[in-house]
Amino acid sequence: MLARFFSYYAPWRGLFLLDFSCAVLAGLLELGFPIAVKVFVDDLLPSGNWGLIVLASAGLLAIYVLNTGLMAVVTYWGHMLGINIETEMRRKAFEHLQTLSFGFFDNQKTGHLVARLTKDLEEIGEVAHHGPEDLFIAVMTFIGAFFLMLAVHVELALITAVVVPVGSWLTTRYGSRMTATWQAIYGSIGDFNARIEENVGGIRVVKSFANEEHERALFARNNVGYRARKLDAYRIMAISQSLNYLTMRLTQVIVMLAGTWYVMKGELSYGGFVGFLLLVGVFFRPVEKIAAVLETYPKGIAGFRRYTDFLDTKPEIADAPGARTLTGVTGAIAFRDVRFAYKDSRPVLKGIDLEIRAGETVAFVGPSGAGKTTICSLVPRFYDVSAGAILVDGQDIRSLTLASLRRHIGIVQQDVFLFGGTVRENVAYGRLDAGEAEIADAVERAHLTETIAALPDGLDTVVGERGVKLSGGQKQRLSIARMFLKNPEILILDEATSALDTETERAIQASLAELAEGRTTLVIAHRLSTIRHADRIAVVIDGRIAELGSHAELMALGGAYRRLNDAQERLHGG
Ligand code: ADP
Ligand code: MG
Repeated sequence: MLARFFSYYAPWRGLFLLDFSCAVLAGLLELGFPIAVKVFVDDLLPSGNWGLIVLASAGLLAIYVLNTGLMAVVTYWGHMLGINIETEMRRKAFEHLQTLSFGFFDNQKTGHLVARLTKDLEEIGEVAHHGPEDLFIAVMTFIGAFFLMLAVHVELALITAVVVPVGSWLTTRYGSRMTATWQAIYGSIGDFNARIEENVGGIRVVKSFANEEHERALFARNNVGYRARKLDAYRIMAISQSLNYLTMRLTQVIVMLAGTWYVMKGELSYGGFVGFLLLVGVFFRPVEKIAAVLETYPKGIAGFRRYTDFLDTKPEIADAPGARTLTGVTGAIAFRDVRFAYKDSRPVLKGIDLEIRAGETVAFVGPSGAGKTTICSLVPRFYDVSAGAILVDGQDIRSLTLASLRRHIGIVQQDVFLFGGTVRENVAYGRLDAGEAEIADAVERAHLTETIAALPDGLDTVVGERGVKLSGGQKQRLSIARMFLKNPEILILDEATSALDTETERAIQASLAELAEGRTTLVIAHRLSTIRHADRIAVVIDGRIAELGSHAELMALGGAYRRLNDAQERLHGG
């Protein structure tokens, strides 16, 4: 995993080297200060030579000006390294997200995915920048300070060194606990996001049921859980930092005592004594630094693990090696003994056989849950068949590229999803490279021209999140305009008008009929009156086609279709 982490540094080798070498140099220069103090106290002070003293001070100042520059470089370019890596990871993650199949999204909470692409990657970016650099410098100052201490006074240095095992023991002990805690915190943040996203997305439902109190309680549970996990982390942090601080101060006190003793014995100079005390501070800084790294590092690791898990999720549906591009489509579709289950346990389709001619309109009717939507989702390969095959123009759809297959299929559903932008952007989503005239034409054919003219900003009117500012009928017309623009050879209409009132439904039906003109059309309808004129009607019951034929044929047959039809006529009066 570490190797994989470092592979992200590869494009930024130069930046890394710059940052790293500046940081190392700055670390080394910091080591020099205690030594400078020793020289001042032991040599310069007794000499009484002001010229030399001022010169040495100027020298020291110059070194620190240099150091300031180095630290500025580290702060800016080091963070640049981090953000570059973060950006690249985010790009990759989003790209990967686009390749994943419906099977993945069916089982995901949006909030968790959002957390992965935002918070997780931010933490990883921090670690990418600080992690290796801080660790290296910590080790370097640690060793450097120790050698300098040895040079000043061997026994005193050895006394100080006794505490090192204690420090590293604390470090490793709390490190692993921190990782687990941060992982839990991340889970909580994902839960949060998921809850907020669901609440806002479903705010109309929440309010119409007056269930705000219930939502508040659910949110409170997340909030309190998050607090508990954060507190865990802070408790561990408090313990480890206090222990670290105490160890350092204890060491300083011991060094003070022992140092005084050595000074009195004449074995240690005053300058050596003061310098040594300062070195103890430097010696302990890495331990503090490691504690700080320990705080960010587990966050980054927890995030990186989730990130790699995500990247390693293989799309269930992808282009087969050597997949062909579907071109010059006529739109004939064949279902050959198609079987399908969302989960292995429960079959949803139990052997669908159906040949649909190019340009034919086939309607699917039947009880809810029978598998009508499922049959249609298999054509654009939202899911792959469990057994059997689906052919478009005689080619198994699994041998075609996904992009080319889907380019030739258009789907109009009951819930129209609109993006938060303008009417124009939403229509143009049908074909992103469409010109102004083509958009206007699509709008015209969907009978939207007048509606749009009445909107405050015409085509540039912002439709609101998911199109809240439009009526159901308007949204459906917009999706029809989108489809005219896309101009697919195969059209799937899945209860496109079921949510609309009867009058709007009639008007939209007329537009859909125009849209279906010359295309192979699969219609799913609840109200049978809307599909009476389909070339053929398939009655789907429990994952099988129970009856197949024209309206007249099925009525004559006197089976399920006839019963359904008679029942609806009684209800709606035709
Ligand atoms: P219809 O469109 O005829 O009402 P569907 O094709 O939507 O029926 O559903 C057929 C069956 O498959 C139902 O029992 C439904 O619960 C199940 N189902 C539909 N979509 C999914 C899904 N994404 N994951 C798991 N089961 C599903
Ligand atoms: Mg359905």
